[in-house]
Amino acid sequence: MAKPNKKGPSKTVNIFCSRCKTLLLKYRKGGTGALVKCFKERIVDDHTTTPHECPHCQQVFSRFAMIKGTPAYKIIGGKLTVK
Ligand SMILES: [Zn+2]
Repeated sequence: MAKPNKKGPSKTVNIFCSRCKTLLLKYRKGGTGALVKCFKERIVDDHTTTPHECPHCQQVFSRFAMIKGTPAYKIIGGKLTVK
């Protein structure tokens, strides 16, 4: 069920822990490439209790980064599954 496109990324992806499959984030992703970073302002839903950490298995999946002056999560490769 695709919604009509407005300006900016409108596709929401679910981001899961690759180890225990816990839903961590809902994110409005732009483009089609692999997810390497998440801008904080585009995170729709945050299911973590400690930032950058899976609430279930405590795996650290990202690091804080400033990208062009915008707070973002830099994804650590292989820690997440995107659907
Ligand atoms: Zn986990």
